[in-house]
Amino acid sequence: MQLSNKTKVVYLVILTILICAMAGGVAYFGVQANYRSSEIDSIKKALENAGLSADHDLSKLQEQVEAQGEQKASMEQQLKDNQSKIQSMEQVISGLNSRLENGGKPSAIPVYGKVCYLTFDDGPSANTLNILDILKKENVPATFFVIHSSHKDYLKKIADGGHAIGLHTYSHDYAKIYQSDQAYYEDLQKISDEVESVVGYAPKIMRFPGGASNTISKKYNKGIMSRITQGVEDRGYVYFDWNCNSGDADKNNVPASSLVESVKKSAGSQRVLNLLMHDSPAKSTTVQALPQIISYLKSQGYRFEKLTIETPPVHQKVGN
Ligand SMILES: [Zn+2]
Repeated sequence: MQLSNKTKVVYLVILTILICAMAGGVAYFGVQANYRSSEIDSIKKALENAGLSADHDLSKLQEQVEAQGEQKASMEQQLKDNQSKIQSMEQVISGLNSRLENGGKPSAIPVYGKVCYLTFDDGPSANTLNILDILKKENVPATFFVIHSSHKDYLKKIADGGHAIGLHTYSHDYAKIYQSDQAYYEDLQKISDEVESVVGYAPKIMRFPGGASNTISKKYNKGIMSRITQGVEDRGYVYFDWNCNSGDADKNNVPASSLVESVKKSAGSQRVLNLLMHDSPAKSTTVQALPQIISYLKSQGYRFEKLTIETPPVHQKVGN
């Protein structure tokens, strides 16, 4: 096809305009891009001059958010701990109040009817779990005077079972705890801390190793029992001895039938029984005897309760 000269000129003009327009566009966007990146640079510079960095600030903010999250969790834990401390303090206050009303002596509110307080000393151990099973089956509560144990997680099982936990010292080492008043209180505080760390409260009921009437302590410190029986009460504790004995501490593996007979004999006609038993590792015959002991006491009309700071305590004659 032959184009006329006029048409060729028209095409040339159009082509030239298109080329110019494209070149102009490229130049425009190039300038714009340059302008933007220099704008970002200048913002970064301004931030730097102000002592800030965009990247740095973001990670700093993230760190702050994480730290606040951790702080919140630890405050929630503290709140929980404080709530159980308040509960335990309320128990102490209520016990002290009833003592105030009683002229400074432990609770005088009498318990009605025939009642038996089952108590287990020197645990927890594997035997504790068997005892907890029996108590659950029989639907009776008990009190455990505990020492330091590698099974300290069992303390939680005792508390969860609705039973009471009392303190019986950390070491149960007569030579150590009865060496001096200070040694005794330090050891008592240690077991208190251990129990609190597991169950969330510090018990205020306790029992002395050997009972308040023990004379072994004379060997280590004359008169210590007279002082610390008073001293623990001044510190807000109520100590419990016993007036009924299973005899399971006499030696290991006392036959279950002998334990049952000992309970029958020492219970006699007493209306309130504070029955001493042990859940230490060697006392498996106590576990065997327990169902028969409970069954006998039920047949004699006893109901079962756990010890609290408000229970009128059984006290033996101080032996040293
Ligand atoms: Zn003991």
